[in-house]
Amino acid sequence: MELLIYTVVTISAIVFFVVQSKKKSKLGLNFKRVYCPACNEKQPIIRIPRGKNQILYGGTTCPKCNASLDKYGEIIS
Ligand SMILES: [Zn+2]
Repeated sequence: MELLIYTVVTISAIVFFVVQSKKKSKLGLNFKRVYCPACNEKQPIIRIPRGKNQILYGGTTCPKCNASLDKYGEIIS
């Protein structure tokens, strides 16, 4: 019975993150390297978060042109 509960919880969590990632929401996950849309610079794997939002939800600042990107590689205005 416990195993069933763990299985259901795990599957629900996976489905949740897959759906959030598809919707490109803040709660989604993106493991792919992103490129800066402004200058096409490949973003480093190890990112240094700037500010609370980047710490919580991911995202990066382009080291070349200083644009703020979200974790999906889109510019945040
Ligand atoms: Zn850039």
